[in-house]
Amino acid sequence: PAITHPFAIFGRDRKNAKGWDLSDPLDLAEIEAGRGRFAAPHQWEAGAGSAPREIRNPALPNDVVGRVYEASAKDVTAAIDAATAAQPGWAATPVAERAEILRRIADLYEENAEQVFALCTREAGKTLADGVAEVREAVDFLRYYANQAPRAERDSAARGVIACISPWNFPLAIFTGQIAAALVTGNAVIAKPAEQTPLVAGLATRLMHEAGIPRDVLHLLPGDGPSVGAPLTADPRIAGVCFTGSTDVAQIINRQLAETAPDAMLIAETGGLNAMIVDSTALPEQAIRDILASSFQSAGQRCSALRVLYVQRDVEERVLGMLYGAMDALRMGDPWYLSTDVGPVIDEEAREGITAYCDEMEAKGRLLKRLDHAGEGLHVPPHVFRVSGIGEMQREIFGPVLHVARFDAEELDSVIAEVNAKGYGLTFGLHTRIDIRVQQVVDRLRVGNLYVNRNQIGAIVGSQPFGGEGLSGTGPKAGGPNYLPRFRKRAAGGITV
Ligand code: GLU
Repeated sequence: PAITHPFAIFGRDRKNAKGWDLSDPLDLAEIEAGRGRFAAPHQWEAGAGSAPREIRNPALPNDVVGRVYEASAKDVTAAIDAATAAQPGWAATPVAERAEILRRIADLYEENAEQVFALCTREAGKTLADGVAEVREAVDFLRYYANQAPRAERDSAARGVIACISPWNFPLAIFTGQIAAALVTGNAVIAKPAEQTPLVAGLATRLMHEAGIPRDVLHLLPGDGPSVGAPLTADPRIAGVCFTGSTDVAQIINRQLAETAPDAMLIAETGGLNAMIVDSTALPEQAIRDILASSFQSAGQRCSALRVLYVQRDVEERVLGMLYGAMDALRMGDPWYLSTDVGPVIDEEAREGITAYCDEMEAKGRLLKRLDHAGEGLHVPPHVFRVSGIGEMQREIFGPVLHVARFDAEELDSVIAEVNAKGYGLTFGLHTRIDIRVQQVVDRLRVGNLYVNRNQIGAIVGSQPFGGEGLSGTGPKAGGPNYLPRFRKRAAGGITV
């Protein structure tokens, strides 16, 4: 018979070709002692004394994926000391050599892809399809920035030590993209991965060091925002921060930098309240597929995900009927299986928060459609709620929750105005076959990424650079030609300004 699930491919319960048992817990403590499969990213002083924290699989609560020793404020200082001392030597390395190391990292990611898929699934609850895309995107970032680096080098100088603060929803791709950009432009890096996903970060860092990034040029400091992120961004020696996460935290970092390091650069990729318009000329079959992917793929845990769907009144009944039918075919469960469409949310806090919101909306009589799911794991079944428009949304709900509003043809401008007024501007979807309507949206909407007649997630490095406007972020788009130059200071006639 055909392969029905990936045990046959990756072997969760058995050793792979290199003799690694993919079901074994990984241990960042072993890393430290240099005994484990992962080399020590950084010798933590405080880590040795404190107890390691266990990381559990969000889909299978009894699966201990690994343990992590977290860094302390003292480790932050030690890492910045070492990085500051090592950075000039790294900047003096020819750009072609730095770029070559990025290409070697890309090769190592591909060679070790099955380890990475397994870890993305077990630590971050990613479906296998999302895990594959994750490795693909990370590799794309590495090769794209390697190719772009010589051009960014002209008439400029490296900035110094950059803090890279990355999210759990793209534990490899965004983690890698930030670091690759900072390193290839001659900067040293202190990486602070999300506290939910330090193991993917540990594996990636090990491969980066193995490819030739000097240890003192790249430090990994696992831990949470208050104990690692805050002291890191407060150190005046930090020359820049590359951050992906919530708008609130980006604003805190911005204020902090203004106080302690006003010359530092900040690139922030933050939240969104993303909408889609489906008008009466849209092809319903295509729209449904794109609504499903945009709202429920990755369990809605993407900043690009669709949150508010505007459907033109004339076709609303038909579109929603088809949407509910398609939702009934979605499968929830363990993301390890190829047949799973919607995996778990990242942790208990996320599950409780999203569930409380859904209960509240249901109590208000707003429920249009809900799937149910019984079984272990931190699952939130997809929900659809009725809203009058994006204006009434208080905040971004980071999960598989879609809101539906209706509009009449003559209201298109007011829908666009309502979306603009919200202040975010990350992604927007438009399903129409009227060209002038596309132009109307392009002319009036303030948004980073506009997708026409397709889904609105999964930007592609090089061809669809990703980033937002307004409350959704600041700085050039990741995976685009303007990204690397921000990691360099311009030099005028030998004087760096
Ligand atoms: N780049 C991702 C996408 O286009 C979203 C990144 C994020 O969620 O932070 O879907």
